[in-house]
Amino acid sequence: MGPPDFNDDWHALGRRLHSPSESAASGSARGTAEDRRGPLAPGAFFERLQRRLHAPAASLALVVIDIKRFHAINVAHGFVVGDQFLEMVGERLLGRLSAGDALTRLGGDEFALLLADVHDVATAVASARQVLGALLAPFVLAGRPRIVSAHAGVALGPAQGRDPRSLLQAARLALRSAKDSGVDVVAARPGQKREPVEAGAAPPRQAEPDPSLFSGRELRDAVLRGEFKVHYQPIHNLGTGHVETLEALVRWRHPTRGLLAPDAFLPAAERAGLAHVISMRVLDCACERLRHWRSRGHADLRVAVNLSAHDFRRDDFAGTVAGTLDRHRLPPSSLELELTEHEQLDDDGAISQAAELARHGVVLTIDDFGVKYSSLRYLHRLPVRALKIDRSFVRDVGESPASNSIVTALIGITGRMGLRLVAEGVEEKRQVTELRRLGCHIMQGFLFSPPVPAEEIGGYLDRAAASAA
Ligand code: C2E
Ligand code: MG
Ligand code: MG
Repeated sequence: MGPPDFNDDWHALGRRLHSPSESAASGSARGTAEDRRGPLAPGAFFERLQRRLHAPAASLALVVIDIKRFHAINVAHGFVVGDQFLEMVGERLLGRLSAGDALTRLGGDEFALLLADVHDVATAVASARQVLGALLAPFVLAGRPRIVSAHAGVALGPAQGRDPRSLLQAARLALRSAKDSGVDVVAARPGQKREPVEAGAAPPRQAEPDPSLFSGRELRDAVLRGEFKVHYQPIHNLGTGHVETLEALVRWRHPTRGLLAPDAFLPAAERAGLAHVISMRVLDCACERLRHWRSRGHADLRVAVNLSAHDFRRDDFAGTVAGTLDRHRLPPSSLELELTEHEQLDDDGAISQAAELARHGVVLTIDDFGVKYSSLRYLHRLPVRALKIDRSFVRDVGESPASNSIVTALIGITGRMGLRLVAEGVEEKRQVTELRRLGCHIMQGFLFSPPVPAEEIGGYLDRAAASAA
């Protein structure tokens, strides 16, 4: 059972128990007994946030806090001490909250605070700084004192987000800026959700894809209930006329929100440490289906599974993949593993896992190729067998000379290196014509088929095989 809600009348009193100056003087905890009952579950926290955002004349601050170098604590002391440490952090933060405020742990080492009755950015930043002050005293971990520090991003609601999701996104962008610039607290600029303020802050990176509100528990329950499904999208070789590969793309059939795309939940799954479990389920499911389709007349079909760099960093990764292939009696060459190019895969452990899989015969593909600076370095360091041209180049092919030059260059590089080149995101016939004219014959996209459930792809394969014959 979650902690009880605060009485909104308190909120109406407009009583912020911690003015920044008072706090700086005393440095003491000023929360009420009720405040200290414990952090809220994320669901309850965001429900409360939503209610508060819709209250008349609402004004509040959402603060997202990230503990610096928490990973090092886990590595040095193990997960049990790591968890105890996070509990201590939670207790200290709670001790600085006022009536009407709330705290939750979003997953990993990320906490969120709702500060009630905050009306301007200066107060929000000062209040967040005051709460962070609770972490200044050393923590005693495994009998030894340890100093930690944290960053925080602050967003004012409803000015910078009328709903929890957009407010969280604004606060996270500000947090990103705080981390990039080494500043302890950064506020999102009023009215501008994309660009955080703070003089000298680094420009914002790609917008956070996931302002997801999913908690680790929700995701774990979803895994246990089997709510993650795999959809398949065909990859055509127009040179041979065959469907060469089916790309497996994970979906969450959420009980109330409907079918969710991976961007909506994978980042939360990463934070909750569940991404690998989900990836391995997708792998297992895709291999099981592939076995079925291969035995039903599509003997050379392959399946492509998307993975993250974290998957490759596990010592047992190559062994797990090999075991899955064996269990489903599939040859390694029937499996492609796609790794998005922006995932940094440059540590020795991950590279040796990739090398072992490649030696085994598994095909390693770099996805979304060309959008990040590390592209060519990847080709040099990893045993890559195929590239997928990023959709942004495919979109403009035939219309933008720059896109045509990039596609032509990639055709040249992959041809000389003996790699397969796949164009993804093909939506129009003119793109097919132009790609083929330039020399790229393997493609996937909505023009052929969107990703569809396994039950629908069997018929598609049969029809494609019949028309190729
Ligand atoms: P991706 O691997 O590059 O997958 C292609 C994405 O483009 C898919 O989005 C697909 O639905 C979409 N797409 C395909 N054809 C077209 C088209 O013609 N036009 C447009 N506009 N889009 C097209 P989806 O399924 O939302 O997946 C997004 C990303 O999530 C994937 O990008 C992949 O990086 C990641 N992902 C998907 N499944 C998994 C998984 O099981 N594990 C991991 N680690 N990542 C996954
Ligand atoms: Mg992919
Ligand atoms: Mg892609």
